[in-house]
Amino acid sequence: MKNILERIQNGDVLVADGAMGTILMEHGLKPGDPPESFNLTHTEILKKIASLYLKAGAEIIQTNTFGGSPLKLAMYSLDDKTEEINKNAVLAVNEAIGEHAYVSGSCGPSGRLLKPYGDVEEEEMYNNFERQIKALIKGGIDIICVETMTDLTEATQAIKAAKTVSSSTPVMATMTFDPTPKGFYTIMGISIEQAVKGLENAGADIIGSNCGNGIENMVKIAREFRAYSTLPLIIQSNAGLPEIKGNKTIYPETPEFMAEKAKELVSIGVSIIGGCCGTTPEHIRVLCEMLNRRMGKNK
Ligand SMILES: [Zn+2]
Repeated sequence: MKNILERIQNGDVLVADGAMGTILMEHGLKPGDPPESFNLTHTEILKKIASLYLKAGAEIIQTNTFGGSPLKLAMYSLDDKTEEINKNAVLAVNEAIGEHAYVSGSCGPSGRLLKPYGDVEEEEMYNNFERQIKALIKGGIDIICVETMTDLTEATQAIKAAKTVSSSTPVMATMTFDPTPKGFYTIMGISIEQAVKGLENAGADIIGSNCGNGIENMVKIAREFRAYSTLPLIIQSNAGLPEIKGNKTIYPETPEFMAEKAKELVSIGVSIIGGCCGTTPEHIRVLCEMLNRRMGKNK
C-alpha cells in the first residue's frame, strides 16, 4: 500500500472511521470505566469495531488508545500497563483489517494541565506521549493521530514526541474548537490561526479539527484552516451536539445530512474526512458512497 501522504499528494480524499466509545458501550463498557480497559480483556470487540468500519469503507482505522497515555491511564491505576494496552490495540486493528486500510494510532489529551494552569511540566508531558507513541510504533501503526487537543503546548509536545520516536511515521494533529462571538477558539483560548502555526512548527504533516459542534461549524473551521495553511487537512466532526432524551444520549446529525455537508469539505480541499462522537459505521458508509459518486467511481 502507498503511504498516506503519497495518496494525498495524488489528490485522493481518504475516509477515516467514526466513533469508538458508543460502540464499546453497546458491547458492555460501563460509564466511567476507561475504554482502554477493553484492550486488556476484550480485544475481540476491538477487532469487530475495526471490521465494521472497514466494511463501511473507511481507509483509516483508529486504535482504541485515545486515553492510552500513562498520565491518563494513571487515573485508573493502569499506567503500568501502558505498553500492553497500546500494543494490544494496534494488534487488534491490524488483525481485523490486514492490508486493506491504514492503522492510525490515536493519542488524546493527557487529562492533566500544564503549568501554570496545572502541575505538569512540559518535559513530563513530552515523556508521557513518548512512552505511548513508542508502544504504538512498536505495535506497527501507519500514522499517529494526536487528537481532540485544546492546549497547543500539549499538542506540540505530543507531535514532537512522535517525530522523535519515528521521523518517518506521518503525524496528523487535530484540535477541538467552539464557536464564540469572536470566532472559533479551543476551551484553552487557542484560535485557528494559532493552532495552524503551532501544529505546523511542531512538525505535523496533516492538521485540522475533530469533535466539536457538528458538521456545519466544521465546514467553517476547515475554510479557516485552508486560509492559513497549505498542509493537507483532516476533519472528523461529531454528529452534532448531543441531546439527552430520557437516559439516552442522541446525536442529531444523520448520515445523509453529514455526507451532504461533507461535499463542502471536499471543495475546500480537505484530504481526510471521518467522524467523531455520535458517528456510526452507517455515517461512514454513506460518506464513502457520496465520495465515490463524486469521483465517478462505481463501488
Ligand atoms: Zn468527539
